[in-house]
Amino acid sequence: MVDFIKEDVIYDLLQKAQKCEAGEVREIIAKAMECKGLDLSEVAKLLYVEREDLLEELLDAAKFIKNKVYGKRVVLFAPLYTSNECTNNCLYCGFRRDNKELHRKTLSTREIVSEAKAIEAQGHKRILLICGEDPGKTHVDHMVEAMEAIYKSADIRRINVEAAPMKVEDYKKLKDAGIGTYVIFQETYNREVYKKMHPVGLKADFDWRITAIDRAFEAGIDDVGVGALLGLYDYRFEVLGLLMHVQSFEKRFGVGPHTISVPRLRPALGWGLNEIPNEVNDQDFKKIVAIYRMAIPYTGIILSTRERAEFRDELLSIGVSQISAGSKTNPGGYKEDDDKADQFEVSDHRSLPKMLETICDKGYIPSFCTACYRRCRTGEAFMEYAKGAEIHSFCQPNAILTFKENLMDFGTEVLKEKGNGIIHKALTEIEDLKIREMTEEKLKEIENGKRDLYF
Ligand code: SF4
Repeated sequence: MVDFIKEDVIYDLLQKAQKCEAGEVREIIAKAMECKGLDLSEVAKLLYVEREDLLEELLDAAKFIKNKVYGKRVVLFAPLYTSNECTNNCLYCGFRRDNKELHRKTLSTREIVSEAKAIEAQGHKRILLICGEDPGKTHVDHMVEAMEAIYKSADIRRINVEAAPMKVEDYKKLKDAGIGTYVIFQETYNREVYKKMHPVGLKADFDWRITAIDRAFEAGIDDVGVGALLGLYDYRFEVLGLLMHVQSFEKRFGVGPHTISVPRLRPALGWGLNEIPNEVNDQDFKKIVAIYRMAIPYTGIILSTRERAEFRDELLSIGVSQISAGSKTNPGGYKEDDDKADQFEVSDHRSLPKMLETICDKGYIPSFCTACYRRCRTGEAFMEYAKGAEIHSFCQPNAILTFKENLMDFGTEVLKEKGNGIIHKALTEIEDLKIREMTEEKLKEIENGKRDLYF
């Protein structure tokens, strides 16, 4: 049995954390604002913060860290579901084997490319390929062929993949095909709950799943994304479990996660539950996002369209750095919607241009940047840049350049007006005058028709 997650240690930390006084909470918050992260016992104490004034201080600290590390950038992407066929029976998921109501479909490579082109036509440059686990249909070659065809036929510049655990040699195939981030959620870090939620199929094996990231690293993939499905078990346990997992692979491979996702469980058509077992309310959800931001300040936090529009907007300031927009969660959904084929119900239905307008209205700058991955600033190299705050010298100019490209190619008049205003402001925020000048030159080149310029 793999022992990355020491449940007795987590329960012990949680029990001791309940006695934490306000003074100690404030000391932990002050430490977090140094942007060096927090240890598990400190995180446990923050997870018990309920007092309104302390909660406000905690959220304010997360805002400060988000701003210091990420500035005003918000990275955008769209999911591309290649299949909803699955041999597992995860009780919380609409794709599960026993859901007879679901319209099943696995896209051909040609259909996947057509979906990628539809996503590209919205203005996206980054996609997340996702599928259920069906060894006969969604094996690694299905993903690899899709990636190769998309890179060849569409102007999609980064393909991240969320897929079931694989063997090292299969991860190597994804690496060779040009994977950006490999994303895998443990769903729950509690073994008992995991067993209950994953009664049959390959996914029933907790250890095979929790060691997936190790095998991805062994295959040379050094950008990984993790997540716990919030709502399956006590959120405090899940946050500590996830951070314990992170510590374990960071210690062994020297690289932390590139992203953490914060999916919150929602009812799905044909799921196997009667209710959400441990529903996380909005207040606690905000606290979780803020605590992740404080505990691992250099890791991106991803929020999907499961959440409501206005709540997503609010979470941007607290710590979320990447969001999906204009999403469809059924295979083929960008060409043809089918609400009997979705994995979950989308709550935020705003199109990408509408989302971009909102981001601008809130004073943020949208980014379609994919430069780090293409310049090999991944894994340990990325963390070095990020922790030395040097990443700012690349990210802000690259956000400006990629957003400008989007405005030129897809912008409505309203969006152009808002976007150019934000770009102007973002330019003045580039402290290094040489880089500011170079960015201005590249902006002129984009106006004159050049594309795909980055630092
Ligand atoms: S969560 Fe993934 S593995 Fe489980 S039923 Fe859904 S698609 Fe299949």
